[in-house]
Amino acid sequence: MFLNYPDIDEYTAETFHLLGNLFRDRGEVDRALSVHQNVIARSNLNAKQKQKAMFALGQDFFAAGMLDRAESVFQELLESNTKWISKAAICESLRTIYEQTQEWQKAIEATQCTKKSLKKDGVDKSDNTKKQDSLITHYYCELADESLQKGNLHEVDGFIEKAKKTYKQSTRLMSLQGDIAYHQKDYKVSLSYYLKAIKEDSRLLSMLFNKTDESASHSDNTQYLQNELLKTYQKNPDNNVFEAILQLAEKYGSNEKIDTLVDEVLVNKKLTIKSIFKASGYIKDKSKNLNHSERSLGLIKVNQSLGKHLQGVPSFRCEHCGYKMHDYLWRCPACNHWDTVDQA
Ligand SMILES: [Zn+2]
Repeated sequence: MFLNYPDIDEYTAETFHLLGNLFRDRGEVDRALSVHQNVIARSNLNAKQKQKAMFALGQDFFAAGMLDRAESVFQELLESNTKWISKAAICESLRTIYEQTQEWQKAIEATQCTKKSLKKDGVDKSDNTKKQDSLITHYYCELADESLQKGNLHEVDGFIEKAKKTYKQSTRLMSLQGDIAYHQKDYKVSLSYYLKAIKEDSRLLSMLFNKTDESASHSDNTQYLQNELLKTYQKNPDNNVFEAILQLAEKYGSNEKIDTLVDEVLVNKKLTIKSIFKASGYIKDKSKNLNHSERSLGLIKVNQSLGKHLQGVPSFRCEHCGYKMHDYLWRCPACNHWDTVDQA
């Protein structure tokens, strides 16, 4: 009915436009496309409405997975120098396309365009720039990764330089620089890059642990690595770091500093079951050379730590829907079943 509607003016055009968007949001991309195409084809509409409809059409194509067509619509809008749609929004749409097609160089250009336009529009906040810089660095790292796979180290250096200029603090960049040194068997250098990345963001430990450990053992730096991780934990008491320290101690032996740390952490910190398991393993290995009363001291600490872990953990659970609760209830408050609550 809408498509056969004879005269669309600037007021009804808005309704059409929204209707198309609604179809797209519901996943009915075909209908969204035909509504927006219909708006564009009307001869009596002004430039503003046509360009808004074109932008929506580009989004429809994108949602339908027709990336080539989406790209050409957005490119056309960009070249038309439209004042109705922000250049930043168009460039951002292009960026998401190039990210999907993994055309990293083009993605970099689109992101730079977004950054520039935001600055020009005055909406630029340092947070925004950081987001774009971080994206551009990721793309340079993707390019460098590709070149590294091909063994083209000269190209890799070029991309790294550009990434450095964009966002020097990027942990992705540090980790990649570590990988390159590792690839060249320059283990001392790779170790320092990996450590830098881990200090910046300890979540990376799970991904970088093996390579960091190998870099340390190849360069005779296992003691150094253990000490650096201890220092890192002091600054940022993160479970990943704690577990890494324990894992290294198991492999390369422990020392007094680690003993103190394990004692302190078990008593004072709320740990995950995995961390408690590892810490108790550490105590078990140590206790081979200890007398009876020293051994039970270790057991007391593990017991305290488990107690801490259980604080605040719900004791009951509905067997029907899995809902957890602190007190026993005859009827589950989530699924309303009777007699389904049991100990968690
Ligand atoms: Zn239930």
